[in-house]
Amino acid sequence: MSTGGEGIVYRCIRCGKTSSYESIIGMPDFKCPHCGYRILEKVRPPVVKRVKAR
Ligand SMILES: [Zn+2]
Repeated sequence: MSTGGEGIVYRCIRCGKTSSYESIIGMPDFKCPHCGYRILEKVRPPVVKRVKAR
């Protein structure tokens, strides 16, 4: 079970499209692969938490 950096998604604040961490890190520059904007915000996919009902 790994809780590493996998599954992290970045969203471009300009065009609003999301890209996976792998698709961005594979490029020479850290920027949006869709429009080339350099400011991306990190989006964590919703974590499903199982809460035990008492
Ligand atoms: Zn963009």
